[in-house]
Amino acid sequence: MVKDNEFDVIIAGGGVAGAATAIRCRQSGLRCLMITGNLNPLDVLFQTTPSESVHPGAETLLNALGAFNLLAASCRGRYDGIATGNSVNFLGSDAHGKWQGYHLDKPLFVKGLIAAALLSGTETLSNEKITSLALGNGGRMVVKVSAGITYQARYLIDASGHSQIAGKILNLKKSFYSPVLYCWTGLTSGISDDVFSQLHTSFDMTRHGWQWLAPEDHQYCTWTTVSTLRNAHRPISPVAGNSFQSVHRNMRWRLYDKLAYEGIILCGDAAGILDPASGQGLLMALMSGIQAAECVKLAFYSGRQTASIAKDYTDWFKGFYLKKMELLRSYYVHNGIFDD
Ligand SMILES: Cc1cc2nc3c(=O)[nH]c(=O)nc-3n(C[C@H](O)[C@H](O)[C@H](O)COP(=O)(O)OP(=O)(O)OC[C@H]3O[C@@H](n4cnc5c(N)ncnc54)[C@H](O)[C@@H]3O)c2cc1C
Repeated sequence: MVKDNEFDVIIAGGGVAGAATAIRCRQSGLRCLMITGNLNPLDVLFQTTPSESVHPGAETLLNALGAFNLLAASCRGRYDGIATGNSVNFLGSDAHGKWQGYHLDKPLFVKGLIAAALLSGTETLSNEKITSLALGNGGRMVVKVSAGITYQARYLIDASGHSQIAGKILNLKKSFYSPVLYCWTGLTSGISDDVFSQLHTSFDMTRHGWQWLAPEDHQYCTWTTVSTLRNAHRPISPVAGNSFQSVHRNMRWRLYDKLAYEGIILCGDAAGILDPASGQGLLMALMSGIQAAECVKLAFYSGRQTASIAKDYTDWFKGFYLKKMELLRSYYVHNGIFDD
């Protein structure tokens, strides 16, 4: 229940980045409003949508947000390495044993983070879309939602994912770093014992892209393909057929040239995307959400110039993104997916 229309921070989007931002802002004592679209798509049965995979290092970030055990609670399968051809790249190990990644039930994972945001005292408006935003008198961001109501805050954090609400409304400059990449993902059930026993979490190049397989509990397998060709979306055997959930996205690599302004910070997919081969979409959503909230905290409590806070954030995000992007690009060039 929203008490009045004045906040320290307004967060656009209640996905991974938005919830992480909200929790961290609340940990700093800031009053924040998270505005998000329809949450009904999250109300689905367990293991009825394709999984997304995350490195176990995400646990440290989630613990810092108070979302303890969320990886285990939304887990549909574990993996200790990624097979490519005949070799396996293991994630690593320590005194406690092998590191194991998580194949996550994404709706359950996001719902868990939203619950943690609510518990932290975040005020929330769901089933609403931000329709306009502008810098108002007194340097406060003025945000209007689809119901026609306006809210104000010193900061707007854009965590609206593909919608890129701030980027689009304010026509911010962005750059593309890849051709259009067609991404498909699906969930296959009813895999026979003998086929399932041969499956490994794997990443393999195809003629125009790659295919990821994530075998899960109950003999299910999530498959994800990325291709420069529009129609090359079917998974290659052994999991072709029986995919009861299949979705498509354009995953062309893009990044806004500047990621923080006076009163506005972009984070998660709203700031920049690489295709899922980068393996860091969820991690980056968590990290950049936390970092964005840290910037707001500095602006409120440290007396530092907002321009220098904004520059540090842009440098941090871009440094991380561009390093990963260069690695991915040279891999794609090496495998003939991109021209040199
Ligand atoms: C097919 C596929 C497979 C993937 N696999 C993996 C994987 O295995 N591992 C991995 O780490 N990453 C993976 N990713 C990437 C990962 O899903 C994203 O990077 C991550 O979910 C981004 O989170 P986010 O919070 O930035 O955006 P989102 O999760 O997109 O959240 C955006 C939120 O903003 C809300 N919103 C949108 N517009 C408005 C508006 N106008 N007003 C208010 N709210 C709005 C939406 O309702 C939503 O809640 C995959 C992506 C795809 C497409």
